[in-house]
Order: sequence, then C-alpha cells, then structure tokens
Amino acid sequence: MSTETTPPNSTSDHASTAKFTELGLSDVTLAALKKVAYETPSPVQAGIIPIALKGRDVLGQARTGTGKTAAFALPILERLGEPIRGHKPRALVLAPTRELAVQVRDEVQRLAHGRKLRAIAVYGGKPLKSQIDRLQKGADIVIGTPGRVLDHLGRGTLLLDQLEVVVLDEADRMLDIGFRPDIEKILRRCPRERQTLLLSATVAPPVERLARRYMTDPEVMDFSPKGKTLDTIEQRYFTVEDIRKFDLLMALLQREEPAQAIIFARTKRGVDKLHRKISHKYPEVTCIHGDMQQRVRDRVMKEFRAGDAKLLVATDVVGRGIDVSGISHIINYDMPQSSDDYVHRVGRTGRMGREGIAFTFVTPEQGNELTRIEMLINKLLVRDEIEGFQAVAQAAPPQEAPADGAAPEEPAAPKPPPPPGQRPRRRHRRGL
Ligand code: AMP
Repeated sequence: MSTETTPPNSTSDHASTAKFTELGLSDVTLAALKKVAYETPSPVQAGIIPIALKGRDVLGQARTGTGKTAAFALPILERLGEPIRGHKPRALVLAPTRELAVQVRDEVQRLAHGRKLRAIAVYGGKPLKSQIDRLQKGADIVIGTPGRVLDHLGRGTLLLDQLEVVVLDEADRMLDIGFRPDIEKILRRCPRERQTLLLSATVAPPVERLARRYMTDPEVMDFSPKGKTLDTIEQRYFTVEDIRKFDLLMALLQREEPAQAIIFARTKRGVDKLHRKISHKYPEVTCIHGDMQQRVRDRVMKEFRAGDAKLLVATDVVGRGIDVSGISHIINYDMPQSSDDYVHRVGRTGRMGREGIAFTFVTPEQGNELTRIEMLINKLLVRDEIEGFQAVAQAAPPQEAPADGAAPEEPAAPKPPPPPGQRPRRRHRRGL
C-alpha cells in the first residue's frame, strides 16, 4: 500500500485553493456541477478526484458530510461516460444502510445530469420484484446494501461481468454491522481487473485487512479531522433526572426554536413514545426507526429533507446516515450507547462547514459516559441550564438527623455552570 505523498489533511488548504476546473473533469461534469451549485470542491473531492480519474484504487478516510459521495461519484461518471448497450452495470457501490444507498443514488443522479447513465438503488425492505424489473431494464450504476446485492447476484438478476468500478462506502460501518462475509462474497464475484474505491470514517485493522486483500496498491488518503472532530459544532449538556427529560426537551425547544432538529432516543419504542408526546405540542414532528416499513421510512425522510417536518425523532441505526443540510440542532434525549455513536449523531449537524449545535441530556448516573465521550472527541462539553427550569423533580425529603446529633444536610443547591473550557469535577451525581 503506498501512501499519498502530500495528503490533503487540512480542510482549509484544499477548500481555498482547488477549483473544479483544475481537477481534470469534463465539460459535461462541470456543467452538472454548475447545475447543482457546487462551486468549490471540498478537500475530500480535491484530493480523491484527480487520483481516481487516473484509474487508481483509493482508500480515503473521510466521514459523511465531507462531500465524499461526489468524490467517488464524479470519477465513476467520467469513467463510464455514456451507457453501453443494454445499460449493463459497470459500477457498484456498496453502502451500509438503505438510507445511505438512497442518498448516494440521488447524488449520483444529480451529478449525472447531461448523461444517459442510469443509477438505481437496491436494498432490503423493498419488494424484490420492482428492483428486478428495474435491473432488467438496465442500470449502469447500482448502489445497494450488501445483503440485497448478494441476493440479486444469487438469483442472477444482477450480473457483474461488465463491472469496472466498485465502491465500498462507509466500509467501517458495513463491517460493524456484520456485512464482512457478504462484502467478501460480492468482491470475489467482481472482475479482478477493476478499480476499487474505499471510503471509511475510521481505518481500523479490519478495514485495512479488507483493503489489503481486495485492493490493488491503493493510494491512502486521510481526511480525518485529527482531534478536531465536530469542530464547527457547539456541544453542550444538561444534567437532568430521567423523569424531567421530557419537560426539559419542551423547554429547550421553546428556547432554541430549531430550524430543524433530530432528537435521538435509544430504543424503537422510546422513539414512538417520544414522538407521540411531542406531537401534542409540535405537530411538525416525525419519527424513524428500523421497525417501520421502508415505504414509510422513505416518506419520512422525504418530508424531513423537504423541511415539511422540523423535528425528527430517531434511533441510532437509521439516524446515523441521515444527510440533511438544514439540521441546526441535535438533541441526545437518551445518551448514545457508545462514544462512537455520539460522533455519528452529532455529525448530522454542521454539514459542509455550516454551524450546528448539539445538546446531550445526561442523568446524574451517566457522568462517566459523558467523560468517555469527551475523551474521544478531545473536547469538554459545556454545561447548559434553562433559566427557571428545575432539572431535579423534587428536592430530596429532609433526612433524619444523624445519630450523632449533627444537623441534617440541606439538599444541594444547583451549581452554576463551570466557565467554558473548565473541566467540571467528576462526581457520581455530576452537575447536581
Ligand atoms: P456527503 O459527504 O457526500 O454526504 O455530502 C454532504 C453534503 O454536501 C451533501 O448534501 C452534498 O450534496 C453536499 N456537497 C457535496 N459536495 C459539495 C460541494 N463541493 N459544494 C457544496 N455542497 C457539496
């Protein structure tokens, strides 16, 4: 594996210097970029496009929200040019979730403006029949989740003999979900002579192993923010008792008046319940989780993307891939289960350098979880409070006088938030 000699690892460097006209793109593509109003390439695009246009394999470390889709889509479109007879699949993109597959398909279709290429998405939860029909009509670019792609390969409804490019998008996520065997089966059925592009937010050993096995001398490019994770996003927390969380949410929504917010809850049932309760006050709320039918999930995402729904209550699994540029607020109503999930959730706002703010509700027992997150993102969350709002349901009843006759302890008064940047004391009942 060779390493890129001058890796574009600084966002500002590349954003300010590169131009789409300097990346070796054709006039058709430049016209499409004009149509979608992309003026300047993002660092990921400025880095990956020229290398991928040469036909090289690329292993790019980049998160969603960095413009990574266009970074692999544009070289694919340039390579394919125009359809071959029968629109046989020549590019295959594997993505971890249905939502991401749909997002990638939409972006490819937008960027394919002016070409006759067809892109379709295939994923579980939708009837096979309609996908088979569309595959039979011909598709030059197929974007799919590994399980469903494998299903089509097994049925012979997807043939890869003309394949020229394979993309593994969010490879770390696909491996996390357990798609490794499926991915390997698919890659083994792809022609050996091909270009492979792999995008991953993290390049842990499992991703490296996959790259070593299935890529040819890839150019390794690191666009990770290097300790500056979620840099443009203001991140705060509230200490709150479990039973006061809903009231805090109402008070927070009233104070913040978010343009668009995702509210994360831990379980599917939790999402349903929260959605119901919020809808009494805010009718423009919707929700999404893995138990909902794909048709409904698609409708929800459409509404949210169009701005018709201002609040979206979601679980991690589906919330993770959501890319909607208008999201101003992230509210972690329930703490994420892992620190990694925190980064994924909060990364849904502040897309493409826009400003965003994230709030995390922390119960007094969850101080350690908060600390773990802070260690991962290398940043302290700032404590927030809503004036006049009591985060504790009731003050503890006065205690019996201790046997030694000392006066009973007063219930602790809420502490003022520590000055920004100062690490609050880590106590079990943090912040109370
Ligand atoms: P991605 O990381 O591919 O999910 O892209 C994040 C968002 O940025 C998507 O909404 C894209 O449409 C948008 N985007 C990608 N590249 C550019 C660009 N060069 N200029 C402006 N917006 C872009």
